Amino acid sequence: MDTAEIIAMFDKYVIANYGRLPRVIVQGEGNYLYDAEGTKILDMFPGWAVSGIGHCHPKVVEAIRAQAGQLLHIDNTFYIPQQGQLAKMLSQRAFGGKCFFCNSGAEANEAALKLARKHTPREKYKFITAEGSFHGRTFATVTATAQPKYHDGFLPMLPGFEYVPFNDCEAMEAAFSDEVAGVMIEPIQGEGGINVATEEYMQTIRRLCDENGAVMMLDEVQTGMGRTGEWFGYKHYDVMPDIITMAKALGGGVAIGAMMATEHIAASLVPGTHASTFGGNPLACAAGIAVIEAIEEEYLLDNAIKMGQYAADKLQQLKEKHPVIDHVRGKGLMIGIKLTGPGAKIVDGCLEKGLRINCTQGDVLRFMPSMTVTSEQIDQAIEILDSVLAQES
Ligand SMILES: *Cc1c(COP(=O)(O)O)cnc(C)c1O
Repeated sequence: MDTAEIIAMFDKYVIANYGRLPRVIVQGEGNYLYDAEGTKILDMFPGWAVSGIGHCHPKVVEAIRAQAGQLLHIDNTFYIPQQGQLAKMLSQRAFGGKCFFCNSGAEANEAALKLARKHTPREKYKFITAEGSFHGRTFATVTATAQPKYHDGFLPMLPGFEYVPFNDCEAMEAAFSDEVAGVMIEPIQGEGGINVATEEYMQTIRRLCDENGAVMMLDEVQTGMGRTGEWFGYKHYDVMPDIITMAKALGGGVAIGAMMATEHIAASLVPGTHASTFGGNPLACAAGIAVIEAIEEEYLLDNAIKMGQYAADKLQQLKEKHPVIDHVRGKGLMIGIKLTGPGAKIVDGCLEKGLRINCTQGDVLRFMPSMTVTSEQIDQAIEILDSVLAQES
């Protein structure tokens, strides 16, 4: 089937809930994609941050192959060695908490919200989240997502949620009461446009949660697994969260989500309170273990810092050349390029020239390559972006 036939098949049989680019992707290798026409594309936004160590990392592929021949799925009625191993590895790289596994970011956040309500007294039911946040598309997580465009047509949302402007300590303090069960926040808002939380903001949330007996939940679905140069985004701050959630890059391309809670809070999730049929299956966990091993064996945290700085410097130089770039922000390989106008045409222009990036919030380009990215690949990306910016403005 050629590209046109595949698109026609989608038009007939697949619900059109995504705005898709007119490309059919058939292969991925490291930081490159190949479409059905054989075009090679440099991928600087691999799988919406899922392919955090590149497409089809050999170590992940090998782990999946081996696990597939041994045991694909077994239900959580039994103990699953890979699940325990992955939980241990995550715990040791975060704050020593305990893990619950699921299959996506939204599910990880659902689990966190449910746990916060379960753990706190009945009169505590409120959640505070930040404007511009993105926490998922299930009813609770889309309610937590404080962006009206995601609520449109689905009202009423779940009761109990309050929204405050991001990075506004006074608003957070004002929204607090002893009815608050928890706060959910991204250390760096991803879909919201690469907005980095300030140290003061994190400290304020920690203090308010402590004073009011509320749970501090950090959504690390996009910031987690090393992208910012630390295992988790919160490590850039002098705070300890109560719960973190992760997904996206955790499985190196395999669907997996996880919620980690402190041992004390985790104890509230007793048998019967929450579950996921596929959560923590051997295949997904084997992939997760391979991702962590690859990051350490290949020093990819260091590379994320180094290449993040390299890319930020190059983009800063582009800004001097192209006034359409307002500023560059982010941490490590989570980089946003704030434009003075819309970015969709720039994304399209880049794809035409073999570069994949993303635009969010209309005017923020997301430059989020995998942690295996090289300076040559960044140079190549910058060159293409440079030529497209010259054309478009
Ligand atoms: C992508 C994302 C989610 C939702 O993850 P899904 O796997 O699509 O459910 C939640 N939070 C953040 C910060 C995300 O980037």
